[in-house]
Amino acid sequence: MAKRRTFEIAFVGLKPGIHEFNYEPDDKFFAEKGAQDFNNADAKVKLSLEKNTGFMFLKFEIGGKADVTCDRCGNPITMDLWDEFKMLVKMVDNPEEMNEQEEDPDVFYISRTESHLDVSNWIYEFVMLSVPMQKMCSPEQMGGPQCNKEVLEKLKAMEAKQIEHNANAIWKGLDKFKEN
Ligand SMILES: [Zn+2]
Repeated sequence: MAKRRTFEIAFVGLKPGIHEFNYEPDDKFFAEKGAQDFNNADAKVKLSLEKNTGFMFLKFEIGGKADVTCDRCGNPITMDLWDEFKMLVKMVDNPEEMNEQEEDPDVFYISRTESHLDVSNWIYEFVMLSVPMQKMCSPEQMGGPQCNKEVLEKLKAMEAKQIEHNANAIWKGLDKFKEN
């Protein structure tokens, strides 16, 4: 329960204006939300919440780092997390209906009678979106201490074999040509 409350903002008690919240979700948080290929998380989330009458403006700034798997060699690599996301939360009488109709993913509705805002799903989603698309060792890291040299060697050997095979096929083709 205490854990859950960490990500719940009791906004009713907040004065109008900007309020800052800082979160450092850990591996357990991400595992519970269903994260895959995301370890040793050291994620930092700075949330600025601007409270207004009838709506709130949320800005999530994601930082920190986490380990993911290199797409090329399969070894863990540490990636920097960096991105920024905004959400507009509006207080309405019929939030379910409004959320169903809303097409803008950056707009969310809650009931006017609501007193707490759970930001855990947004934090999860936004941190996941902050992982770079290309998850590969950089050219400098390749073959470095973090890269899986065995797999790289095998990849290289396979590539070499493929080239040899292609070359042989060309020669065979030429031989055939000569025979004719
Ligand atoms: Zn690699």
